[in-house]
Amino acid sequence: MDNVDDLVWACSPTPAAYAETMSMLYDDPEGGSGVGRPRGKRAECGTFKAYQQHLYYGEPTDEACREANAQRKSRQQQERKDKPKRTRPAPPCGTARAYKQHIYYGEPTDPACRAANSAAVTRNDKERRSQGRFRRPKRGGAKG
Ligand SMILES: [Zn+2]
Ligand SMILES: [Zn+2]
Repeated sequence: MDNVDDLVWACSPTPAAYAETMSMLYDDPEGGSGVGRPRGKRAECGTFKAYQQHLYYGEPTDEACREANAQRKSRQQQERKDKPKRTRPAPPCGTARAYKQHIYYGEPTDPACRAANSAAVTRNDKERRSQGRFRRPKRGGAKG
């Protein structure tokens, strides 16, 4: 069960949910109070994981861990901000171009755009094949 920590962290969106999962995992009847005395490894301070563990065990958080938590938050916010904003009006829906812009700007795609895109993809594919550009020349028996 060495990797249990990672698994728990990966799928626990909130400290509360984490605590619940942990209490289930570590509720060891033989060990008395399993909660608060995990057998799993503790994360090193200065990581988001360690920060969460401090919270879970009711420990005071230290600066390194708070910093890690803040950095993670700001990184997530940054990632959201990084999404480009539309500067020009969107092309009309129902075109492959509009579809690509939906994807690019992280917008939901609509059926009209999806249909247009898949039609464009099929068309391109056919064109390529008819051009025969992608046929590999046969190799002769000559030694290289
Ligand atoms: Zn810490
Ligand atoms: Zn659209």
